[in-house]
Amino acid sequence: MNPIQMYKELPKTNCGQCGHSTCMAFAVAVNKGDDRVQACPYISSEKAEALGKLVKIVDWRENIIKQLIEDIKNIDICKMAEDLGAIIKKNRAIEIRCIGRDYIISEDRQISADGKVSPWEKILLLLYIKTGGSGVLTNEWVSFAELKGGGVKVEAIIKECEAPLSEMFSKNAKAAAGAIEKLGAKQIDFQASQHTWIFYLLPKIPILILYWPANDEFQASVKLLFDRTADRFLDVESIVFLCENFTDVIERACLLY
Ligand code: SF4
Repeated sequence: MNPIQMYKELPKTNCGQCGHSTCMAFAVAVNKGDDRVQACPYISSEKAEALGKLVKIVDWRENIIKQLIEDIKNIDICKMAEDLGAIIKKNRAIEIRCIGRDYIISEDRQISADGKVSPWEKILLLLYIKTGGSGVLTNEWVSFAELKGGGVKVEAIIKECEAPLSEMFSKNAKAAAGAIEKLGAKQIDFQASQHTWIFYLLPKIPILILYWPANDEFQASVKLLFDRTADRFLDVESIVFLCENFTDVIERACLLY
């Protein structure tokens, strides 16, 4: 059932009680999976149940995945494995580690891992394969704003990643440090901060996690730095998404301490 067919079944009064301004907007939302037929109070529960069964939710992310698979169908992923920092596995599949989790990308570009793989994870890995594979890490560390297009998204890195990480370190530095090390981060010497870890979000996208403990003048603070080449392997929006996921993983791990 598409939105037009769904619309025909609605009262068409545009009363707004479902939270949408029009019945058509509601029909579209139901078809996208953003709402349920039951949200319209003028449809009986029996009819809502019957209509719900006819709705085929179109997840637009699946269309992106299909397109990305099409885009990289002629790439020999095994030949590219070394450049991607991937490991070649059986049956011409490759394995890529992303935020501490190993993903298998088969020859026909299907992505699996231990447990469920979300559409976003698939999109990210396919983008990495599509844009990656060329370039050598420079070990020249720059702020997110210095990456191509980074200025527009830098607020997201500060608000969604650096600020929550600073708070985690401020509350329990031992737990936060333990969580990032358990995920695979290694402590290194880096003159700009008292404590620095290097962590690979993806094999070609390392970050430095710089941590300054609180003192009499300042609160605890965390800043992320990126290899100068990061924007060659992924666009900045995807890097933000990776960093947000990294922050979420650390946050969840800290709760276990
Ligand atoms: S509550 Fe029902 S009738 Fe009112 S706008 Fe929503 S879908 Fe239309």
